[in-house]
Amino acid sequence: MAKHSLIPRSAYAGKCIVLTTKHAKSIAIAPPFFEKLNAGVLEYVVDTDQLGTFSGEVDRRGNAIECAREKCDLAFDQLGDTVEFALASEGSFGPHPFIPFLPCDHEILYFIDRRHDFHLHVSHVSEKTNYRKESINSLEELLKFADAVQFPSHALILRPSGSETKTPIFKGINCQQELEKAFEECMKQSAKGNVWVETDMRAQFNPSRMAVINELAEKLVDRLAAHCPTCDTPGWGKVRAESGLPCQWCKSETKMTSHEIFSCAKCSYEEMHKSPHGLLYADPGSCEFCNP
Ligand SMILES: [Zn+2]
Ligand SMILES: [Zn+2]
Repeated sequence: MAKHSLIPRSAYAGKCIVLTTKHAKSIAIAPPFFEKLNAGVLEYVVDTDQLGTFSGEVDRRGNAIECAREKCDLAFDQLGDTVEFALASEGSFGPHPFIPFLPCDHEILYFIDRRHDFHLHVSHVSEKTNYRKESINSLEELLKFADAVQFPSHALILRPSGSETKTPIFKGINCQQELEKAFEECMKQSAKGNVWVETDMRAQFNPSRMAVINELAEKLVDRLAAHCPTCDTPGWGKVRAESGLPCQWCKSETKMTSHEIFSCAKCSYEEMHKSPHGLLYADPGSCEFCNP
């Protein structure tokens, strides 16, 4: 088996990674880059809202990965050839892919390294989110909603309508007085006497989201700290897991992970690794023949 252990050196030591953001995301991203790679993260503040907003005023063009890559390209286009490394994040919110009633935060971090010539993105689905939206028609209901979503540490958005529209009137609400004032104003403007309230998912207004972005930044940094065993490019790491661990009794394939695939971010080299649980067989309890 080839050597691929973490190499205690960083290809990014003393380098500057440019992070395109409007929402202060370096709070979550800079610490792991500094601690594990000895690299600095510099925010390039641009109006990324032109690429799409959560609150619906601007629809996102393309998927989340394309959108994050576009943000990286913005830094290269605007800041010129001196920039070697660009980074951007993109989040989407909605029901969990397997548990429909559970809201989830799906985060992507996209990294472009022009010096070593590769792109790398990592993603993460977390249920640690307060994401929620609702139509309400009394202050009491609003306060109940606010309580449930960790207001005021997490901000809210209010609109004068019983449904989502493209005109949010109040965003980033993070104090009681402001909330009550916004509610009154929305009620006045609402034709049917109801108000749309939702969690403000912009990172600097949402500490839960900031924490998820931090977890993902740790994952990216771990990849960048590991080098490909053949071409020595940073960005080596696990890219997927494959199921099919045989059942201990009947030996048929189960849904349990049998091995993991590690891959280079640049060349086509891959390695198949045994699953970290170290099992040769799956418990018959997880077999659809022995335990249907
Ligand atoms: Zn079986
Ligand atoms: Zn390689």
